Amino acid sequence: MVEAMVPFLSDFWGNPSSAYHFGRQVAKHVEGARAKVAEMMNADPREVIFTSCGTEGNNSAINSALMTQPGKRHVLTTAVEHSANMKFGAALQKRGYDVTYLPVEPDGALDIHLLEKSIRKDTAIVSVMWANNETGVIFPIEEIAAICRSKGVLCHTDAVQTPGKLKIDVTELGVDMLSLSAHKLHAPKGIGALYVKKRTKFQPYLIGGGQEQGRRGGTENVANMVAFGRAAELAMAGLHDENTRVKALRDRMEKTILAEIPDVVRNGSRLHRLPNTSNLSFGGIEAEAILIGLDNVGICASSGSACTTGSLDPSHVLLAMGLKPTRARGSVRLSLGIYNTAEEVDYLQEELPGIVARLRGEEHHGRVKHAKGTRPAVA
Ligand code: PLP
Repeated sequence: MVEAMVPFLSDFWGNPSSAYHFGRQVAKHVEGARAKVAEMMNADPREVIFTSCGTEGNNSAINSALMTQPGKRHVLTTAVEHSANMKFGAALQKRGYDVTYLPVEPDGALDIHLLEKSIRKDTAIVSVMWANNETGVIFPIEEIAAICRSKGVLCHTDAVQTPGKLKIDVTELGVDMLSLSAHKLHAPKGIGALYVKKRTKFQPYLIGGGQEQGRRGGTENVANMVAFGRAAELAMAGLHDENTRVKALRDRMEKTILAEIPDVVRNGSRLHRLPNTSNLSFGGIEAEAILIGLDNVGICASSGSACTTGSLDPSHVLLAMGLKPTRARGSVRLSLGIYNTAEEVDYLQEELPGIVARLRGEEHHGRVKHAKGTRPAVA
C-alpha cells in the first residue's frame, strides 16, 4: 500500500485536475483507483465520488436528498447509527428538519415493519447503516432498499464497517447511495467514497471546484486515493479469510471469555453480525478500567466507537438496545482483523481474566503466562 502511494508523494506531484500533461498523467491513476473502488462494490466508476471520510459520505448523502427534494423535510434513520448520522440529524433538527431515529430490539435488530410504517410522504431519505460499528450487528439493507424503492424514497446505507467482511454488490443491495471510509480497509485515514447510483439527483456538499465531475469540490488527495484503490483490491482478496479464519478466532475468543469469566454477556445478535466483532459487557466494572488494563499489557480494544472516546456517557447503541447504563458502561468491543493471529487471541485469553478479577477485587489464579514479547491480540 505504502509503495503504491509513494510515487504520488514524490515524483508525481501534478494536480490531476490541471490541463498540463503532468497532471493528466496523475489523473489516470486517480481513475484507476476509482475503478478499483468501484469494482469492490460492483459499481460503475462514474458512480463513485471520492470523499475525505465516512462522515462526509453520510452527511453528503443526506444533505443531497434534502437539497434535491426541497418539499421533503423528513429523514428516517436509526437510534444506533454512528455519530456521523446521529449528530448530523440533531443539527438538521435545529435547522427545522424532522428526523426519526428508529428504535432497535434487545439484540440490536431493526423492526422492518416499523421502518416501513415510518416512511412518510415527506421522507426525503432513509439512511440506515449496514453493519454496526460497536456490535457488528448487520441490518437487512437489501430488504430496506426494496421497501424504499416501492415507496419512491431514496435509500442510503453507511457501509463503512463492511468492506472485506461482507460482499458488497450495490446492484444486489439496490441502494441509491452508500458510504465507505478507507481506513477500515487498512488504507490511510482521511479518504472515503460515496457511491451514488446512476441518474440519482445529486447536489454536492462541498461546493467549489469542478472535481469529481462537479460532485465534490476540493483538490484531490491523490496518494490516499491510490492507496484506497489498492486497499479495495486487498479487501476483496481478504474476504474469505475474514469470514473463515478471523470469524473462527473471534468465536473462540468470545466463547472462552464467556465461559471463563463470570458475569459477562454478549451484546447484539450472535448470528447476524460481522465476522470480526465481539461486544461484551462485564458486570460490576467500568469498560475504561478494562481498557487501561489491556493497554498496559499491549492489547488495544475499545468501548463504543473511537469517535466517542473520552465521552463518559454510556454508548447510545447499547442504551438503544435496552441495556442499563451501568451494564453499558461495562461494555468492551473486541475486534479482530486479518493481521491478528491465534497466538494473539491466546494472549488476550490469558490476560483478560486476571485484569477483570483484579478490578473486581477478586483473587485470580491465572493460567500459564504467555511467552514474553508476543504481540498484542486485539486491534
Ligand atoms: N460510520 C461508521 C459505521 C463508522 O464506523 C465510522 C468510523 O468509525 C464512520 C461512519 C465515520 O467514518 P470516518 O471516521 O471516516 O468519518
